Amino acid sequence: METNAQPPMRILVIVAHPDDIEFGMGGSVARWADEGAEVFFCMVTDGSAGSNEPGVDLRALAERRRQEQLEAAAILGVREVRFLGYRDGVLQPTMELRRELTRLIRELRPFRVVCQDPTLVFWQDGYINHPDHRAAGEAAIYAVFPSAETRPIFPELADEGFEPHHVSELYLNFSPQANHFVDISATMDRKIAALLCHRSQVGPEAEQWVRQWDAEAGKAAGFPYAESFRVMRFIPDK
Ligand SMILES: [Zn+2]
Repeated sequence: METNAQPPMRILVIVAHPDDIEFGMGGSVARWADEGAEVFFCMVTDGSAGSNEPGVDLRALAERRRQEQLEAAAILGVREVRFLGYRDGVLQPTMELRRELTRLIRELRPFRVVCQDPTLVFWQDGYINHPDHRAAGEAAIYAVFPSAETRPIFPELADEGFEPHHVSELYLNFSPQANHFVDISATMDRKIAALLCHRSQVGPEAEQWVRQWDAEAGKAAGFPYAESFRVMRFIPDK
């Protein structure tokens, strides 16, 4: 029997919407899970703005998207998905959201937090970054630092029993300053399968352009398929 086995690495991925992870980093998540990491997802919004049909039942849509996300997470090997239930489309990086994310970080105590890069406003000349992505990313990075590791911030969390926690790594997805490429060639098929679970949002045609994107990212790194991140590492004070 092994006596000095390392505990698995814990990774917490925080994003605005169901499907954000599968588009941007599903291959990396599957790879980390394959390598033995315990991966947790946190969906900040309920995904209820994911339809332009007039008169659509938003509560039913949110429930459908929750089921799609659970199905996708199972394919990627994720341990648990948390849903915070904020309204889709109008997310703000409030102190309330920062407190909730701080509580989650202190509860799960991840080594690595992954979130959306809040500094991205425009992607090249063709896309305005969704404001929910920026809001979720901003709340997440400030939950990582300083809130999660600083006892006097949100003293009510310490009163609830959530002790401070230092996050060692931050991975920012969809970043204009990517400095790290994950080879997802072995998990690309599972990424596509997980993405296509989001049937209320994407059809089979999504496969072609997602493969194209990830092949493009791979070219820069010398892999058949890759996903990119801006990675930051934090040395503890003590
Ligand atoms: Zn999104």
